[in-house]
Amino acid sequence: MTFTESAERQALRESVRQVVRKFGSGYATEHARRGVPMTELWQALGAAGFLGVNLPEEYGGGGAGIYELALVGEEVSAEGASLIMMVVSPAIVGTVLARYGTAEQRRDWLPGIADGSTIVAFGITEPDAGSNSHRLSTVARRDGSDWILNGRKTFVTGVRNADAVLVVGRIQDAAAGGPGQSDTARLRPAMFLLPRETPGFTYQPIEMDITESERQCQLFFDDVRLPAQALVGGDDAPLEALFAGLNPERIMGAALAAGTGRFAIGKARRYLLERDVWGVPIGAHQGLAHPLAQCHIEVELSRLMLAKAATLYDEGDDKPAGEAANMAKYAAAEASIRALDQAIQCHGGNGLAADYGLAMLLGAARVARVAPVSREMVLNFVAQHSLGLPKSY
Ligand SMILES: Cc1cc2nc3c(=O)[nH]c(=O)nc-3n(C[C@H](O)[C@H](O)[C@H](O)COP(=O)(O)OP(=O)(O)OC[C@H]3O[C@@H](n4cnc5c(N)ncnc54)[C@H](O)[C@@H]3O)c2cc1C
Repeated sequence: MTFTESAERQALRESVRQVVRKFGSGYATEHARRGVPMTELWQALGAAGFLGVNLPEEYGGGGAGIYELALVGEEVSAEGASLIMMVVSPAIVGTVLARYGTAEQRRDWLPGIADGSTIVAFGITEPDAGSNSHRLSTVARRDGSDWILNGRKTFVTGVRNADAVLVVGRIQDAAAGGPGQSDTARLRPAMFLLPRETPGFTYQPIEMDITESERQCQLFFDDVRLPAQALVGGDDAPLEALFAGLNPERIMGAALAAGTGRFAIGKARRYLLERDVWGVPIGAHQGLAHPLAQCHIEVELSRLMLAKAATLYDEGDDKPAGEAANMAKYAAAEASIRALDQAIQCHGGNGLAADYGLAMLLGAARVARVAPVSREMVLNFVAQHSLGLPKSY
């Protein structure tokens, strides 16, 4: 066990920071206020090989692990330019396809995901299912060798700018579920790659009260016809394929949140050193220094758990990574929200002024408590799996 990051990883962090800094400090704020994706930054990171750092080399990726992708996401966020699509396209979809895609799917999709020229969104959440993915009602049925998809999704990020969506639905399966079991028990989870322009697929932006460059959409599937090869994970391993994306999702969620926490603490620290209203920098007052030190400790603790989760995941068997990935996501989300709130407090009135760009981040930072998995569902996991308490739902 070592707590010193390798020289390569430190160099990767520095290279990522340099790419982001080229865009200037107002770049992310301006895109978030206009609600438009940070496409130029995305492309620059893709061209540098940073977006596909975790994907196999034979498909144009960097051949490294989720640790490296998390590191990239964290550094981007630490510069104040959180890229939520990094959680989705290279982490969830890239991992699922690399591990469970057919040779054809890997060949067709991974090189573009690796260099950022292809973006794939991920849709699992449904209006009537929410956190309960056993209740999904998006259903695919066979029609010859094709699939016909019907259903709805909600809160799916980045669809407007994506080439496709990886849709989690269920397939009607006479074999699944025993006698007397409900209709939903007869439905097996399955994932489909759905190109954005497919007939019968429509989407509509949801008006959100968060200032963010990516938007969330509702998706509607109305007799969408998909070819046999749209099914990901085959008939054998749909659940394993879905689960393959979940730990990377939580690890990336943690990384982006930890980066946001660092960004907030960095801004607050600079202000505490500069601002002087009693003849000394306001950072000399413990009333400000201690809460910020506390936030720093909490963010650093979450980064330790993040490193543990990513390391366990990259060691191969991703089962033991589940607990650490959930804990890292929880800890980083809570630490970053507190850090941002404290950074605003350190700035006094300026913390709420548009010029300082801190208050506008509150909504986006708050997302980490809800998505990709909510705080309560993480606590359910830990209560049940770490503490052995009865399942409560
Ligand atoms: C900005 C943003 C981006 C998102 N991006 C995507 C995306 O790209 N793709 C996608 O598929 N989804 C996305 N989501 C959806 C997100 O994953 C869900 O919002 C989240 O999983 C919670 O589901 P829900 O909103 O339906 O809440 P609900 O499931 O309705 O839960 C409401 C509240 O009840 C709590 N709760 C629910 N069940 C339990 C229980 N058993 N025990 C204790 N508490 C419980 C929840 O924690 C929550 O606090 C996004 C959401 C947001 C806000």
